[in-house]
Amino acid sequence: MKVLIIEDNQDISASISDYLEGLGYTIDAAGDGVTGLHLAVTNDYDVVILDLGLPGIEGADLCRRLRQEAQQSVPVLMLTARDSLESKLEGFKSGADDYVVKPFSLKELAARVKVLSERISRMPTSRLLVGDLSLDVDTHEIYRAGKHINLNPTLFRLLMFLMQNPHRVIKREDLDYAVWQDDPPDSDALRTHISNLRQAIDKPFDKPLLRTVRGFGYKLTDKNADD
Ligand code: CA
Repeated sequence: MKVLIIEDNQDISASISDYLEGLGYTIDAAGDGVTGLHLAVTNDYDVVILDLGLPGIEGADLCRRLRQEAQQSVPVLMLTARDSLESKLEGFKSGADDYVVKPFSLKELAARVKVLSERISRMPTSRLLVGDLSLDVDTHEIYRAGKHINLNPTLFRLLMFLMQNPHRVIKREDLDYAVWQDDPPDSDALRTHISNLRQAIDKPFDKPLLRTVRGFGYKLTDKNADD
């Protein structure tokens, strides 16, 4: 179980971190909203513990962006300073799943983290993930690092097949078949579509995910060759 703590109060962050580590959780921590959002978008967490009052990006805003821009359905447990109806509503409106009011007992916090992580692991997911790239099979929405990406139906099928088979070399014939079944167009069509797909999912970003494996085919991965 992996938990992200986004909390600018170092004492609170450290005590949550120590307590959850003692229960066997793996912890990442961020002290501001910008770092927190980046970590939440680029990693897979079972639960995010999010403080409402944060420097950089404020907690409710961060949660909203996580839900809307990054399409992340990770459970969010909000930490609020006051037990006021407004802060509670603000938290839920932004997409938080639960909240605790400071000061809270670590035991109660851990119990809520456990409930949230179990709830989500029972839910079927329609979202494919490779690094910071996500594709929702149901809604057809594609995001990379929080940015929305539009693809035509052919490129969508191509990307979906690659994302269903991540980190593996996919032969050209298999990609042809995945996109066009038994009726592929001329032999250069795939090359053109791969190039168009690169323009959409890799060109605007630092790290290319779609790799050419010479003589074999293609591979979609966020791992480096020497990893
Ligand atoms: Ca704070």
